[in-house]
Amino acid sequence: MYDNNNIFAKILRKEIPCEMIYEDDKVLFFNDVNPQAKIHVLGIPKIPVIDYHDFIQKAEKDMVSHFFSSINLVIAKLKINESGFRIITNNGRDSNQEVPHFHIHLLAGENLKGIR
Ligand code: 5GP
Repeated sequence: MYDNNNIFAKILRKEIPCEMIYEDDKVLFFNDVNPQAKIHVLGIPKIPVIDYHDFIQKAEKDMVSHFFSSINLVIAKLKINESGFRIITNNGRDSNQEVPHFHIHLLAGENLKGIR
């Protein structure tokens, strides 16, 4: 079951701050507090879903499409398309997912060999 008190739910409710990169009515992208690369952005949908599997099962197709399309807006804003980037999502116990609100990690800004 979705935990309304997870840290990203609190960020969405503006109970704790974040360094916002892009936001609209459906998605929020913000800097990771503990970056693993020069650019480390987290992207989350504004619906209560635990992980990737839960997101695809429960979200409207419009939301799924909007979420993944919006990653391209962030890529353009950060000007990382030419240099490259990595998108990761951790899903469940074996992935060591820490925060139980579906999110993607967008890593870039340097050569990512050996990172994550
Ligand atoms: P996970 O392991 O769940 O895929 O990744 C969770 C990510 O959330 C980690 O990279 C961690 O640094 C980040 N994180 C945890 N707490 C906070 C927070 O309060 N603010 C921000 N911006 N990132 C957080």
